[in-house]
Amino acid sequence: MAEKRDYYEVLGVPKNADEEALKKAYRKLAKKYHPDMNPGDEAAAEKFKEASEAYAILSDPQKRQQYDQFGHAAFEQGGGFDASGFDFSDIFGGMGGMGDIFSDLFGGGRRQRNPNAPMQGANVRTRVSISFADSISGCTRNVEVVLKDECTNCHGTGAKPGTSPKICPKCRGTGQVTIRQQSFFGMVQSTQPCPDCRGTGKIIEQKCPNCAGSGYTSSKKTIEVTIPAGIDDGQSIRIREKGEPGLNGGPRGDLLVEVRVASDPNFVRQDMDIFSNVEISFAQAALGGDMRIRTVDGDVIYTVRPGTQSGTRVRLKGKGVPSVRNKDIRGDHYITLSVRTPTRLSEEAKEALRRFDELSGNSLSMDTGEEPKKKKKSFREKMKKAFDGE
Ligand SMILES: [Zn+2]
Ligand SMILES: [Zn+2]
Repeated sequence: MAEKRDYYEVLGVPKNADEEALKKAYRKLAKKYHPDMNPGDEAAAEKFKEASEAYAILSDPQKRQQYDQFGHAAFEQGGGFDASGFDFSDIFGGMGGMGDIFSDLFGGGRRQRNPNAPMQGANVRTRVSISFADSISGCTRNVEVVLKDECTNCHGTGAKPGTSPKICPKCRGTGQVTIRQQSFFGMVQSTQPCPDCRGTGKIIEQKCPNCAGSGYTSSKKTIEVTIPAGIDDGQSIRIREKGEPGLNGGPRGDLLVEVRVASDPNFVRQDMDIFSNVEISFAQAALGGDMRIRTVDGDVIYTVRPGTQSGTRVRLKGKGVPSVRNKDIRGDHYITLSVRTPTRLSEEAKEALRRFDELSGNSLSMDTGEEPKKKKKSFREKMKKAFDGE
């Protein structure tokens, strides 16, 4: 292939050309080199393609910036530029048939398909909800889906037994019709599914009474879904060939089951790790000791270290989420230890705390340079006094 020309050079515009100038330049070139205006002229087709590509890139601000920075190298990954997905309708004002021309030129999009070739059936999607605990351990669930099956009466032909479908006279069994349309550039041809037979190539004159001519019957089916340990919310399980039946002997589509995992009041999952908060008493934090901690494997005994600060995070290795591929590989469980401040204390406990404070730095009678203030009267005490007339 020849060295690619600079896109600005192709369109004959300066590097700082604005959107309007690009459009004008491209419109001019497109009219001149359009394949319909130059039938059988390979060179013109090449020029048209080149100009279309240049316009598709430069009219997209993001792509233009990439091009300005890296040149053609910006689009070389993945086999080069593909204009088939680009919407040229803005330029050509929605002229019929333009899409087909671009598909033909750039080799994307439309493909002639033999209506009699085997084809895989469509995928069917459904959802299942499970608890957090079940997502960790794995489980099985039955899902009910309505699935089509080939009609046993007509064996999928849709024709009344004893009769057979006729070849569609409009498309002569190809399932496709060619439409010629007058466009901005002259006559344009495009291919569309045949409207008479809806692309099947066949016409059923006497319909099968069992399936009303569709060739299929639907019924509710119960399918067991094995949900692997470690599945995360929103992940899907594919069950092969439990979708819609295929055409012309093709395989069935797949059943895709999306798993929704309920949130848990104790645990939060992030990737393969689990996070939770655990409260410890001030005495436990200060003195240390054994305590029970809830994990997805059940309770474990954890030894709090003496002098643990509130907010300390500890790791229980291998107590996280198992990998969906191998349940022996597991994440970790991170626990944040929060020291609980007591809110209701007996007089005796208060006394013990005051005594403790005296022994550990006297924070309660901090020297502020004045006498400790008298205990403030509570609101209730003040109100009581007011009513008693004091
Ligand atoms: Zn039937
Ligand atoms: Zn037809």
